[in-house]
Amino acid sequence: AEAAALAAGDRPAATADGQAIHVYANLGSVADAEAAAAAGAEGCGLLRTEILFLDRSVAPDVAEQAADYRGVVAALPGRPVVIRLLDVGGDKPAPYLAIPPEENPALGLRGIRVSLARPEVLDTQLRAILAVPEVERCRIMVPMVASIDELIAVREALDRLRAELGVGPVQLGAMIETPAAAATADLIAAHADFLSIGSNDLTQYVLAMDRGNPAVAAGIDGLHPAVLRLIRMTCEGAATRGVPVSVCGGLAADPLAAPILVGLGVRTLSVPPARVPATKALVARLTMAAVRDHAAAALAAANAAGVRALARRFAEEIS
Ligand code: PEP
Ligand code: MG
Repeated sequence: AEAAALAAGDRPAATADGQAIHVYANLGSVADAEAAAAAGAEGCGLLRTEILFLDRSVAPDVAEQAADYRGVVAALPGRPVVIRLLDVGGDKPAPYLAIPPEENPALGLRGIRVSLARPEVLDTQLRAILAVPEVERCRIMVPMVASIDELIAVREALDRLRAELGVGPVQLGAMIETPAAAATADLIAAHADFLSIGSNDLTQYVLAMDRGNPAVAAGIDGLHPAVLRLIRMTCEGAATRGVPVSVCGGLAADPLAAPILVGLGVRTLSVPPARVPATKALVARLTMAAVRDHAAAALAAANAAGVRALARRFAEEIS
C-alpha cells in the first residue's frame, strides 16, 4: 500500500478535466531536495542559491558551488531544476560583496543588479552551473529583472561560457517580481524560455509596502487585485510568445490563491516541499472552466479582503 501511495504521489498533477499543472518545490539545500523528491515534487522551481553565500566571509568558488548544485540535481533524478542566480542585497546581506550602504536597499543593488555590477560573481556562478552533470536538466533563472537589458547581458555571458566550455543549450528564464517586468512581460518573454512570478517581491513593489516591515505587514496580501492584475498581464504577455509561466513566491502555496493563479494562466506552482502533496491534491479538484470564472471574479473584486471572501466560497464549493 505504501508503494502504491508513493507511486500516486509521484504522478504529475493535473486538474479534474485534464489540464497538466506542474507542482515543483522551492529549495535551499540538498536536504530540501531529498524532502521534495520524497513528497512527489515534479522538479525544483526555485533553488535559492544565496543560502550558500550568506553568513560567510568569502564567496564560494566554482567547485564549492558546483558540488552544491550537483547534489540538488542528483536528488531529483530525471526532473528539471531551476537554479536562481544569486539574489542578495536588500534584505539578504553578503558582506564580502561590499555593497555600499544604501538609503533604500530594496530599491538598490540587489538580485541580478549585483551580479551585473560584479561580473566575476556571475561568471563564477555560471561556470559552476555549467559544470553540473546533466546540465540540460538545469534551468537558469534571473532574479529582480526590471528590463530585457539584464536578461540579454546574462544570456551573452552564458553563451560565451557555454562556447568556452563546450556545453549545449540551457534554458534561461526571468523572475517577474518588479512591476516593470510584469508590465512588459511580452517584451521579456521574447528573450526568455520561461517566466516565474516572485509574488513576495512583486507584492512588496506593487503595494509599495516593505515585506520585512511589521508596521505594514497587515496590508501585504498577494491577493490584492492590483497584484492579480499584474499576474494576468504577465500571463497574457507570456502567452503572446508561447512562454510558460510559473509562480514560485508564497502565493503558490496559499490554497486560496492557487485556483486563481491557475485560472489566470499559471501552469507551474512551486511550493515548499511540505506543501507539495496538498497542492497536488488541490489541483486535482479544479476544473479549468471553474477556475477561469473564479479568476475573472477575483480580478473584479474591490480589495484583497473581497478576493479572499470569494476564494473561501470557491474552496467550499470544491471541497
Ligand atoms: C519572491 O520574491 O516571491 C521570491 C520567490 O523570491 P524571494 O522570496 O527569495 O525574494
Ligand atoms: Mg524575490
